[in-house]
Amino acid sequence: MSFRAPKGTDDVLPPASRSWRRVLRAWDDWAERFGYELILNPVFEATEVFARGVGEDTEIVQKQMYTFRDKGGRSLTLRPEGTASVVRAYLQAGVTGALKVSYSGPMFRYEQPQAGRRRQFYQVGVEYVGVAAAAADAEVIEVGYRFLVDLRMPNLEVQVNSIGDPVCRPAYLELLRDYLDQQRDRLCEESLRRLESNPLRVLDCRVCAPRLEGAPSPVDFLCEPCAVHYEEVKERLEALDVPYRETPRLVRGLDYYTRTAFEYVATSLETAQNAVGGGGRYDGLAEVLGGPPVPGVGLAMGIDRIVLALGETAQPPALDLYVVVAAPELQAAAAGLVSELRRAGLRVDAEPEGRSVRAQFRAADRRGAAGVAVVGEEWQDGKVTVRDLQSGAQEIIAVEEVAAWARS
Ligand code: AMP
Repeated sequence: MSFRAPKGTDDVLPPASRSWRRVLRAWDDWAERFGYELILNPVFEATEVFARGVGEDTEIVQKQMYTFRDKGGRSLTLRPEGTASVVRAYLQAGVTGALKVSYSGPMFRYEQPQAGRRRQFYQVGVEYVGVAAAAADAEVIEVGYRFLVDLRMPNLEVQVNSIGDPVCRPAYLELLRDYLDQQRDRLCEESLRRLESNPLRVLDCRVCAPRLEGAPSPVDFLCEPCAVHYEEVKERLEALDVPYRETPRLVRGLDYYTRTAFEYVATSLETAQNAVGGGGRYDGLAEVLGGPPVPGVGLAMGIDRIVLALGETAQPPALDLYVVVAAPELQAAAAGLVSELRRAGLRVDAEPEGRSVRAQFRAADRRGAAGVAVVGEEWQDGKVTVRDLQSGAQEIIAVEEVAAWARS
């Protein structure tokens, strides 16, 4: 057969998928510990939701959306990110006050594919909707940080900035526009166009940004309330013991962001793809989507890049125990043991039909088992042989002790 997964998409099979499961479980755990409940949204929305919510002038909306008409003639788009849907759902459900939710799933952007830049990629994230206080910004930044530290992400840096709000940004944008106007010969075609429509985006341009060292930064032009908010976010981060680096050039590629912008950078990855996550405050989003003003702050983590940055060569074990059957007449008894251990909470598997003991040991290895229990001639005395597959240590123990042995 000659079919292949579409360009820019991946199949993730075992054993590589073991890292994915570990990472996704860690995410669920941290989100839950911080009080973020699960939200499920459709993977496609009316195109308008993203056109408005992400911003007409963004690269995502202009070039990267998977937009199609369904059989009813509606224009729909596969979600390129998660926040717009969450806020759309908040408004649609008529929620008032605070909502803390976490999501997880595939996102779609028509990108030029390379390592860590995919057309279908996987994001997890949280949204803290309905709260304007700086405490919410700091909490959101912290949950992402704790998650990445727990995964032992190497060379991790949290970068923060403030990009102001509709009060202070216009004056700053004027200055930025003047500066960029003088730098026209250093700007790419795309940035020249953005210079008129949204100059902040130029600082986000992968090509131009490194050439614009002297550009004014939004953080130097904040109005009083924005400056106070930014100070509070930083104080909170210090109180929470979250190390961060102020990064005045950091802006976000999405239109609805106000004030806090942040990114998690794995400095060991190649520069263009070293942001493993990011987020910010989006106090303008609900109104853009036709609702009343509702503040909010959130983050999104890119799981493809996180798995890449972790670069796990030894995959975590997928099974606690593999049960090997040494004689055909013990097959049913062994199946009973497997069932009992599974009910005791262990991850256990065995061959569906009799094969040689050697073949079963090979399968145990391939399936990523931490240990093996052999149901053989000791079974009649209520015993089995167990072997630790990593150390090779082997002993004969009572059947009742197998669960405890596998747990240790
Ligand atoms: P964004 O939604 O653009 O703020 O991205 C948040 C995170 O998602 C980034 O830091 C990346 O880790 C990840 N991400 C964004 N776009 C892609 C992509 N095309 N392929 C893989 N990961 C991505």
